[in-house]
Amino acid sequence: MIVLIATRNRGKLEELQALFRGSPMELVLPESRGVQMPVVNEDMGTFKDNALKKAKALAAASGQWALADDSGLEVDILGGAPGIRSARFAGAGASDEANTRKLLKVLRSTRKRRARFKCVLALAKPGGESITAEGSLEGEIAVKASGEGGFGYDPIFFLPQYGRTLADLPFSEKQRLSHRARAAEKLRTLIPTF
Ligand code: IMP
Repeated sequence: MIVLIATRNRGKLEELQALFRGSPMELVLPESRGVQMPVVNEDMGTFKDNALKKAKALAAASGQWALADDSGLEVDILGGAPGIRSARFAGAGASDEANTRKLLKVLRSTRKRRARFKCVLALAKPGGESITAEGSLEGEIAVKASGEGGFGYDPIFFLPQYGRTLADLPFSEKQRLSHRARAAEKLRTLIPTF
């Protein structure tokens, strides 16, 4: 079954395609099927509602099944920020580098660095029916960036049990333990009855 993927984020795309390899869903970019991803204002208050909004918009526009990922980083000392605003923490259209730099700066004088990544995946049919699945990954914000792998905040997301950041781990290892991997695993169990 072909499923259109509602993201332009290269990092998410690569990870999701690998996570669903071998499942009944083959994830493809809308453009590869001649479909333009509709412009969606991610203005809902939760990862779940933003993911549903993106998946439903693409499914309705294309007449095909669509998968969306809404994800981000919650830092406890910041009351859960940047959260749903993770992509635009340093301003609209901010780069990953600008966002990570800003977070390091905001946290420079605190040792309370507990944080988690969250990911909600939403799968929608053209008629509007949908399912969602959530995953999270606990860690800490590092004091400086390290590693070349992954994307986004990975270079500053430190995993105490590994003594390394997510960007320091090989792709296969991030794919084993990430918030996205956990959400994908749950979604895969729901697909047969969807
Ligand atoms: P979205 O595209 O609105 O869901 O924004 C996601 C934000 O969270 C972006 O800033 C991403 O870089 C960040 N993000 C989501 N997942 C990850 C991840 O697996 N690693 C690092 N950053 C992530």
